[in-house]
Formats: sequence, structure tokens, C-alpha cells
Amino acid sequence: ATFNPKTQIYTSPRPPIHLPTNPNLSLTTFLFQNSSSFPHSLALIDADSGETLTFHQLKLQVSKLAHSLLHLNIHTNDVVLIVAPNSIHFTVCFLAIVALGAIASTCNPLYTLPELSKQVQDCNPKLVITVPELWHKIKELNLPSIIIGSSKPTSFAETPSSKIWYYSELIQMSIMECELPNKTVKQTDTAALMYSSGTTGTSKGVILTHKNFIAASLMVPADQDRYGDPKNVFLCFLPMFHIFGLSVVTYSQLRRGNTVVSMVKFELEKVLLAVEKYRVTHLFVVPPVMIALAKQSLVMKKYDLSSLRQVGSGAAPLGKDVMEECTKNMPHVDIIQGYGMTETCGIISLENPKEESPLSGSTGTLVSGVESQIVSIDTSKPLPPKQSGEIWLRGPNMMQGYFKNPEATKLTIDGQGWVHTGDIGYFNEEGQLFVVDRIKELIKCYGFQVAPAELEGLLISHSEILDAVVFPFPDAKAGEVPIANVVRSPNSLLTEEDVLKFIAKQVAPFKRLRAVSFVNSVPRSAAGKILRRELTEKVRSKI
Ligand code: AMP
Repeated sequence: ATFNPKTQIYTSPRPPIHLPTNPNLSLTTFLFQNSSSFPHSLALIDADSGETLTFHQLKLQVSKLAHSLLHLNIHTNDVVLIVAPNSIHFTVCFLAIVALGAIASTCNPLYTLPELSKQVQDCNPKLVITVPELWHKIKELNLPSIIIGSSKPTSFAETPSSKIWYYSELIQMSIMECELPNKTVKQTDTAALMYSSGTTGTSKGVILTHKNFIAASLMVPADQDRYGDPKNVFLCFLPMFHIFGLSVVTYSQLRRGNTVVSMVKFELEKVLLAVEKYRVTHLFVVPPVMIALAKQSLVMKKYDLSSLRQVGSGAAPLGKDVMEECTKNMPHVDIIQGYGMTETCGIISLENPKEESPLSGSTGTLVSGVESQIVSIDTSKPLPPKQSGEIWLRGPNMMQGYFKNPEATKLTIDGQGWVHTGDIGYFNEEGQLFVVDRIKELIKCYGFQVAPAELEGLLISHSEILDAVVFPFPDAKAGEVPIANVVRSPNSLLTEEDVLKFIAKQVAPFKRLRAVSFVNSVPRSAAGKILRRELTEKVRSKI
């Protein structure tokens, strides 16, 4: 049974995992410990450039880059920011940074300069790693930078106060280094600062340790390995700057000895071509991609998809009907759903098609090592199966807290170590978790986070806007899009168009407001808190 009526705690039905007990162990060392028995297996394939790395070659590159970073004075607890699209090098950089006990932070390459600057101010990186295409933005940060790319384009002037190095030259420089630098890294050391707005407010640095990644890699279920021989091949077009792409699709799979094919972004035909070419067995997707796979049956018929065994969706809710449609298109493939968060290092639950009733609309059963309580919103009491409440979680993959933000940490992790997700859900009698709603402010647009508080802050910075509230509007393709109610100053002639443009020029495209209504006031509680939920429900009831 997964529910214990005495403790009111739900646990995983999967076999237990065994965490490594050595206190000094980096996630990088943990990965290569495993792969030493299959050094010549393919670890990474870059679908965009065609480059490949075996596990042995991956270790060599990581070692060389780690030594170079040491020469550049990167040490324990220094933050290195990676602003780059998916590639083989992204993974090499991440593994090299954390092998030194330094901390990798990531962000969306689509971020505008002000968005980037905000994260830089918060995490204070000593170095940035980027690509030539983004240099026009990154140079404005005036930070020492490494540019991934094989040659040195002449148009790159170094900025007066910062220094540039080239990835390929750094690797060359450390040509003799074949082993990881001898640095003591504790499992409890911070490995990554990934940004998430959590249940309230703007983006915060989620502190994830080596232990979190190691645990998550063991939790990402072994039931996938049952597809077994030949080895699994995962295609990763989900961004590696997000925990789903980094932890679940890339790190965990490499640790399992699987091959990861990296791809810059989702484009249906490119993905199908890659599946055919590399005999991809597993795809991890977000709901909009699942919708494309469900609807584009004609295009899909053009490709040989016989290698595919499983397509798993996460990051946002996915309707059962889409999964059913997808199954019709690919009858030989298990279509499953999972649930995860940045704060849980990417993984909470996943469907196991061999054990669970398929196409249930659930997010599957808890992965091994994760405990959960469902807590009533009204009574704060834990609830038995079939009753909905806030999902609380505990386990070795849970974040340590929010960076430099003890108040937000306290709001999210309680005294007994439960992480309050801000999601509403219930378990059925079989232990399957259904995520049915969200009480936190977060808007999920194409699987990306949009924090209403951030957009509201920008709106009220406008001289003719007195007050504003941003809330989600349901959208068939994106899942949700942000819209706003705005209070203008008395004689303002501001139009919807003006407001949309005002925001659009300051934020990454996925955060842009899709509609603005002018109102007389924003509903607030007696304590002054915006009653966002009322607006969300009103909008939903009209559709
Ligand atoms: P992020 O930290 O960006 O991964 O966002 C995590 C949030 O995405 C969760 O707290 C949920 O609100 C939402 N989410 C992730 N997976 C699912 C899912 N399968 N169904 C519903 N919501 C999900």
C-alpha cells in the first residue's frame, strides 16, 4: 500500500533506492564512477552539429575544462552562469563547473538584458559561459566570459573591463589533463542555482546540492530501463537551463548509461528525423509538444519511428484526450505523464505503464524515496485517497531553500521538511497522483514559468499605471497565457496596445502579456494582498 492511514503519508510503490553514503562525492564523480564500465558507449550526440562524445571522451572534456576553470580562478562556491542553448558543450560545462565545487546557474537565453541583469545581481557570477549568437547581450554584463564555439570570430571586441576566453582554446590548453582536478566536493555542497518563482513573488535561486542531483538520478525510475536492450536513447530538446532538461532528461539518463541526443529546440520534423536517424527510444516533452504529436499524424507517417518506446510529458498539466490521440498515432509507444518541480530537482512522480492503468490522466505514482501528504486547504489536516488538497513533499531530492531568501524558504519548507508545492491534487486508491489545480501564483506558458509579480512590478513602474494584476488565461496551445487588469491614472489615454508594447520590450517573448483590460480597481484582501485567484476563477467560469 502506498498510503499509511496512521501517518497519513503516501510513499512510493517502486523498489527503494540506495543513496551513496560517501559524504565527499560530486555529481560529476558519481556519473563517471558508473560509466567507467562502458567507456566507449555513446554518451552525447549533438543533433545540430553532428558531434558525438563517448563516456570516455565526455570525461576527458569535462576534466580539461575543469582544469581550465581552475586556471581562471574558479573555486568552491564561485557561481558560473551558463546562458546558452542546448548542446553537448552545455553538459560538459555543467559537469566541469560542479566538479570543482563551484555552482552552476542557468537562465533562458531568450532573456532580455534587464532580466539577465536581475539574475546576475542575485547570484553574482564570477564568469559567464555563452555562445557567439548571444554575445551582443552578454557583453553588456561586463563579466569575464567563455564563448563556446570552435573559432574566434574577428568581430568580437573584448569589452574594456572584461575578459573573453574561447571554449575550444581552453580545452586545448589543458590537453595533458585527463583526470578531474583533485578537489574535495561534499554531497551537501551546492551544485546549482536554478531560478523559479516558487509559490509567490518573483524568481528566486533554488539551491540544489550534489546530493539532490544524485538522488534525483536514482529516482528517475528504473522502470524505463526495462525497455532494456539495446540501450535507451533519449532526445533532449527541452531546455537544459530548466531542471527538467538538465536533471531528468540529461544528467539522470547519462548516469543510467543511456545516450542523450541534444537539440537546440523543438521543431517537429527535425525531431522526427532525429528519432529515425539516432534510433531514439524515449522522448520527454511538454504538453504543447504532445499536442503537436497528437495532431500531426500525416507528417509523422513520413518517418520511421519504430525505435520509439516511450513519450513522457511533464512541466504542465496534460489532458487525457491528447494522450489518447497520441496513442492512436503511435500505437507502439507508451504515452505517459510525470510531475516535477525545480524545487524537487525535477522529479516527483511518473507513470509506470507496466504497472499502472494507462491513460488515466494521472501523473503516475511517486518515484522511490519521495513521500507526500495531501493537506486540506480548509482544515490544514492530511487527507486520505480520493480527496484533494495541497501536495506536500519530502525526500532527498528536495531543494535546500531559496538563495539569500530565508523568508521565502520558510514559507515553502516547513519545520518537518515538507515542501509545500502550491499545487492541488489527490491520490487514488492505486497510489496514482492527479494534479488538478494550482493555488500558487505561477503561470505556466508553454511549460515556462511566468511570475505574475514580475509583470505587475513592470506594469506599475509605468508612470500612467496606478495598479495592476496579472493572471492566467487558458490557451489551447500554450496551456496558459498571462493577461492583465490595469488601473490607469485619472487622465491617462493609455491603450491596450501601449501596455502590451511596454511589457513586450522588457521581457522574453513567452512572458509577454496577451491581453489587457482597464479596470477601476484591483481586488485586494483586507491585508492588501491581490485576490488573483478570484480573477482566475472568474475567467475560467466564463469559458
Ligand atoms: P517548474 O519549477 O518550472 O518545473 O514548475 C513546476 C510546476 O509546474 C509545478 O509545481 C506544477 O504547478 C507544474 N507542473 C509540472 N508538472 C505538471 C503536471 N504533470 N501536471 C500539472 N502541473 C504540472
